[in-house]
Amino acid sequence: MRADILILGADELLTLDKQVGFSPVRGKDMGKPVIVTDGAVAIEGDRIVACGSTNEVLEDAEIHPGTTIIDASGKLVLPGFVDAHTHSCFVGTREDEFELRNSGVSYMEIARRGGGINRSVEFVRQATFEELLNATLSHLDIMLEHGTTTVEVKSGYGLSVESEMKMLEVIKEADRLHPVDVVPTFLGAHEVPPEFAGRRKEYLDLVISEMLPEVKRRSLARFVDIFCEEGVFDIDDSRRYLKSAKGLGFGLKLHADEMVSLGGAELAVEVGAISADHLVAISNSGIEALASSNTIPVLLPGTTFFLGLSNHAPARRLIEAGAPVAIATDFNPGSNFCPSMPMMLTLACVNLKMTVAEAITAATINAAFAIGRGDEIGSITVGKKADILVLALSNHRMLPYRYGVNPVLKVIKSGKVVVDFEKA
Ligand SMILES: [Zn+2]
Repeated sequence: MRADILILGADELLTLDKQVGFSPVRGKDMGKPVIVTDGAVAIEGDRIVACGSTNEVLEDAEIHPGTTIIDASGKLVLPGFVDAHTHSCFVGTREDEFELRNSGVSYMEIARRGGGINRSVEFVRQATFEELLNATLSHLDIMLEHGTTTVEVKSGYGLSVESEMKMLEVIKEADRLHPVDVVPTFLGAHEVPPEFAGRRKEYLDLVISEMLPEVKRRSLARFVDIFCEEGVFDIDDSRRYLKSAKGLGFGLKLHADEMVSLGGAELAVEVGAISADHLVAISNSGIEALASSNTIPVLLPGTTFFLGLSNHAPARRLIEAGAPVAIATDFNPGSNFCPSMPMMLTLACVNLKMTVAEAITAATINAAFAIGRGDEIGSITVGKKADILVLALSNHRMLPYRYGVNPVLKVIKSGKVVVDFEKA
């Protein structure tokens, strides 16, 4: 087969393939990745056409004058990271709230004082389309440099018909302009905006009766999400909203059981959500429900870290129950201002007690299934999109261990080398 790019001689190639094929990796299998030593990958156009040992791949590969050969000796090669939960479309920063939290004021208390999500809503409402687009593109640049090749981005800082549509149009344009693939999620039910203070049900009526049909009409989101949490939207609100969205054909996601155990995980399974996210306060019945369903638990270790919380999502219990755990950044200007997936791998190991292999599985193949793209990305599999990282590390155990610095050497996105720090 014709090879436009050949990656040869990787010390370790992690394919994240051949565990259970084209499906999420569940439970104990998450800790058993396929590791090819002296590994190679062949790419034609935007697709992976061969992978295996360097000898095997070289036997079949047809090299032509335009073939790019990448020497990966001494390097680690694995699929591009999939960041399955982010709020990357925003302007403005909230570093003063970070300082307040560190002096002992809680996230919820800061929100009550006029900070939190509604502060970002104010910034986003005032921003022009161009300002919001430029900020979003610069966030995607940093993510790509840190190895993220596909990212889910939520709306939810507009909270009016006009501003939510502006956000979703920005997200669509960012996807068109940027090498990173962007999967859009509508999160009109992120918070109750100030003009609806004390009138939560009325705001949710507006979201359901006006925003959802408009998002549908303009094909601006694949998924919808809701912040199901004490003091925000309760279980009944969430069920009503998610069932309406399902009726319109949207895939479903929930911010579930983040701070208080409301039964968000159980609701996610009941409505057939593709993912239930956060889950720090998930109940035992929630763990059982997720483990015996197709809903993917998406854990966000950067958020608990950055909020300075001592409770973490029960990753071990979820994995031992057989769930296909994913991890993501939750990148946002309030509760986690870190867009780096390698950093999340470290936090997943240190705070969630995941093994290195489990964390890598959670950041690639399982994350791809958490945004409905598992058939296309998330593993180095013949026929899938060529989204591949070459890291300046000799083995996968180095990845979370060498933390706080960027391990990326090259990023190949859709068959093109889009980041190359060796040339820089
Ligand atoms: Zn979130």
